[in-house]
Amino acid sequence: MKKDKKRTVEHCLVIDIGSLARANILSNDCHGTWVWRDDDNAVTSSAEYQHNQGIFTLRFASNDQNKVQNIRISTTPCNYGNHRYWFTCPGENCGRRIAKIYFVDGQFLCRHCHKLNYLIQQCSKRYVAQLNMQRMRIKLGWPLDHDQVPFIKKINKPLNKHHKTFRAMVDKHDEYERQHNATTMALFNAFIDRLDRFKES
Ligand SMILES: [Zn+2]
Repeated sequence: MKKDKKRTVEHCLVIDIGSLARANILSNDCHGTWVWRDDDNAVTSSAEYQHNQGIFTLRFASNDQNKVQNIRISTTPCNYGNHRYWFTCPGENCGRRIAKIYFVDGQFLCRHCHKLNYLIQQCSKRYVAQLNMQRMRIKLGWPLDHDQVPFIKKINKPLNKHHKTFRAMVDKHDEYERQHNATTMALFNAFIDRLDRFKES
């Protein structure tokens, strides 16, 4: 496993502590099978679980190996004498109190340990850059349906604008366009990365 793998939250199996609590699984000596379903409600994965004395144990098969993972559960008080449950991330040197654990590379860890933030940040950066770029094109009266604005448009100053203003707007546009292209490229690389992973497994 490469350390810098980039992933998204949407592509992982996840267990939400809230669903465990709602299913009454966090009482002592509770055990059963936890299942994941796709959009059509078909079961896609499953793991055996057991809860005892604040330890949530998961047993599952991953890459033809049987695995066991113990995850500590803690509580904090909330309104009306109730309490809220938390997982303690079992990641090395982590121990974060978290509501969701994600399954990647054969283990359940928090999203920080799995480095799941990367793609989300790249995605939003990309859309912000694209949006800024398009806004600038609209202001300049440039077409939106081209990847590249024709060069001639960049030197033809509209009559209603000062030369300096026009130049500044073109520069700003070009900067947004560069940001947009850079993040598109980063996303594309991350996608290829994931594709390679998929082929490996
Ligand atoms: Zn963690």
